Amino acid sequence: MKNPLRDLFRLFFPPTCAVCGRVLPEEGELLCTTCRWEMPLTGFARQADNPVARKFYGHLPLDAASSYYYFVHGSGFRDLIHRFKYQGGWAIAQKLGAWYGAELKESGLYGGIDLVVPIPLHWLRRLQRGYNQSEYLARGIASALGVPVESHSVVRRVYNVSQTHRTKDERWENVHGIFAVRHPERLVGRRLLLVDDVLTTGATLISCGETILRAVPDCRLSIATLAVARGELRSGMEY
Ligand SMILES: [Zn+2]
Repeated sequence: MKNPLRDLFRLFFPPTCAVCGRVLPEEGELLCTTCRWEMPLTGFARQADNPVARKFYGHLPLDAASSYYYFVHGSGFRDLIHRFKYQGGWAIAQKLGAWYGAELKESGLYGGIDLVVPIPLHWLRRLQRGYNQSEYLARGIASALGVPVESHSVVRRVYNVSQTHRTKDERWENVHGIFAVRHPERLVGRRLLLVDDVLTTGATLISCGETILRAVPDCRLSIATLAVARGELRSGMEY
């Protein structure tokens, strides 16, 4: 059906690729075919033993762990994550989550997941940003897996400043005890998929996972992060 108003809008504001900025032929697409093809995927979702899973060995008992793509400095795919954090790009987060979720579903390693749990923001941070980007990632993943999102059971009690300029030691110190479980009864006996946007040291995910296992010892955990910094996979976990 023709919609002259929409055609006119498209003429002035055509949909563009979120990575390279080229005009897209179709409405509702996120990336052009070239960028989709060039996405630096890890393929870890299909491997039980992979560098992301190994990063958590000895620190947090997990059924499975993976990241969807490599966080490459200076690439458009790095900017993509900045966009959904700081420019209201929750729709991008949800779309990427759905792509990742399709891969997780296909792998078979994540088939038993009951609930998808986004790493929570402090309520004040959430208020400032307007939303939690990991929650939209979690929604995309959960829809692909056909399971619900649980975003009210785990909370971040402490408002901490950015981790970016901290040393490794300070980062570990900084996340210790910052999470709390408000509704353990909702998690009892469940297999949870913890979702975060970028995996760097893993300190935040470990802190959150430890808190959950202490409150609900009989639940099981897996981890999925959208991106992983390649440099963080070389040396394993360091205290
Ligand atoms: Zn593109």
